[in-house]
Amino acid sequence: MEREEMIRAICMSGAAGAIQCVVADTINTHQNKRMEKKGSSIAVIGAGVVGLSLAKILQERLTEAKITVIADKFEQDTVSCVAAGIFRPGLSFKGPTKDITKRWIVDSWNYWQEILKTPDAFEAGIMPFGAYIFSKDNYHVTRNHLIEEIVPEYRPVDEKELKICGEGWKYGSYFSTLKIGCEKHLPWLKKIFTSKGGEIIVKTIDSFTSLSGYDLVFNCAGLGAKTLCDDHDLVSIRGQVIKAKAPWLKTAFYGDYDTYIIPGLDGVATLGGVRQYDSYNTNVDKYDAASIFERCCDLLPALKEAEVVENRVGLRPHRVPVRVEAEVVSGVKVVHCYGHGGYGVIR
Ligand SMILES: Cc1cc2nc3c(=O)[nH]c(=O)nc-3n(C[C@H](O)[C@H](O)[C@H](O)COP(=O)(O)OP(=O)(O)OC[C@H]3O[C@@H](n4cnc5c(N)ncnc54)[C@H](O)[C@@H]3O)c2cc1C
Repeated sequence: MEREEMIRAICMSGAAGAIQCVVADTINTHQNKRMEKKGSSIAVIGAGVVGLSLAKILQERLTEAKITVIADKFEQDTVSCVAAGIFRPGLSFKGPTKDITKRWIVDSWNYWQEILKTPDAFEAGIMPFGAYIFSKDNYHVTRNHLIEEIVPEYRPVDEKELKICGEGWKYGSYFSTLKIGCEKHLPWLKKIFTSKGGEIIVKTIDSFTSLSGYDLVFNCAGLGAKTLCDDHDLVSIRGQVIKAKAPWLKTAFYGDYDTYIIPGLDGVATLGGVRQYDSYNTNVDKYDAASIFERCCDLLPALKEAEVVENRVGLRPHRVPVRVEAEVVSGVKVVHCYGHGGYGVIR
């Protein structure tokens, strides 16, 4: 496949599918014969939620191809495992066009709904729940045009609900959604991938040329793509969260100033948060931790008694638009799939 043809293929497929399907569609539609040949080899850089999801989908679609995941961080060491994992794309999540963005979100929602209907849902870390979002001063932050028509319920709260988190809230919405807990989801993906013959290599990739032995390379390196691709448009948005025991919590709550409380499958809730643009500090900041805990307890006072399990920091790989694009780098065919910012778990 020539460069122009490859790029056209990606763009066409992008219009028709969510990110996790885009690259697989490309191969299905345009390289089927060549990739189905026994011995065709595909490398996926990255074992975060993007890389492992993609590897699993490729494996399902290209049963004859040999798929290898190459990464230097796994499971708890990935940004994916810091995430709350809630299906609630923010308005900064952007594909190449509005239509493609919307299409990705619809397809992603359907993708998660399919898993939710199977007995695997719990092991895969997927859990449906409801969420309240309140604001004291901004009506618009309680709305989300990206999901209002997708999720089963998205409505304004009534007067009673507006008082659930105490006095002073002026605006609020309630919506149904789901979360993907990567602490369970990544091991689940890895188990399926390896049980079907997928190979995993622990290695840092310094350049694409070191992968010239593969027929095709998918770059799902998250923020690692910044150096790998010398991509100045990819920026970290630092996040910090508290994981706290709250098995009684069954509903998510959002307040002003990036304050959120998300229930967990195993009774450990995620309390957030911060969004620090262009910060690369991976250390836990005690002032951030104190601010997060105070804001979350103001929103939901019962959390004061919750035992803190750990504080976590993650650098969101932010890029506008998310890079889903084909490129030939020194003769190596690469499909980039990175830069999902604060919304890569749902993608
Ligand atoms: C506090 C916080 C809360 C969040 N909440 C949500 C949420 O509620 N919902 C949501 O959808 N998203 C959320 N996110 C965002 C989400 O975590 C990310 O968008 C997502 O994890 C990105 O996944 P990824 O696979 O691209 O990257 P990562 O999980 O970072 O994985 C990158 C992989 O690439 C590998 N890699 C990188 N460079 C190289 C290299 N050179 N060689 C070899 N391997 C390499 C790494 O080892 C790793 O395996 C949140 C993020 C944070 C920090």
